[in-house]
Amino acid sequence: MEINSVRYIHQQISVCCFLCWDHQICTMEKDLEELGSTPVQVLHLVGYQQLMLDNKTDLLKEACPTQACPFCDKEEETIQHILVGCVFARQIWFSILQALHLPALVPSTSDTKFSSWWRKGLRLIPKDLQKGFNSLVILVAWETWKHRNSCIFKHARPSIPDLLRVIADECSFWGLAGASKLQELLARSLSLAA
Ligand SMILES: [Zn+2]
Repeated sequence: MEINSVRYIHQQISVCCFLCWDHQICTMEKDLEELGSTPVQVLHLVGYQQLMLDNKTDLLKEACPTQACPFCDKEEETIQHILVGCVFARQIWFSILQALHLPALVPSTSDTKFSSWWRKGLRLIPKDLQKGFNSLVILVAWETWKHRNSCIFKHARPSIPDLLRVIADECSFWGLAGASKLQELLARSLSLAA
């Protein structure tokens, strides 16, 4: 099977999320601002299948050989790696959370499981910021995944400034559309992309 065919399958059935298999995280969806629901629904649909690919059975191994991460080109591409384990992803989280004055929430090298890191973040963040944080996590994960797809299918170069710009724009759109808790969280920073 052609590499691109394999990755196309990944894209179609995998657009992320660990949310689905992690029931504890699933329950958080009830608290999410409604605007975040579309990415969450897509993430739900494909996340479970991505995990199946990440934990390949022999049959899947044959059909879907391991691919290198399109961001760092060093590690195996898994959903956990793309969203939190990769140095590229950690840099994105660092830039955003540092700008929001939430450095304690930046994933470290020991944070290799997205849902665990998310849960840890919720324990650390003040209660009044939790809903906004949930929206932010979904938005950033969603845009990171789309950036991954652009790198693979449109031959875009991994770019932290570009991704941060897209995330900042998307945050503005969500805010204009009424994501008040996300706006409150973002008010902690003048500009994510600065
Ligand atoms: Zn990587």
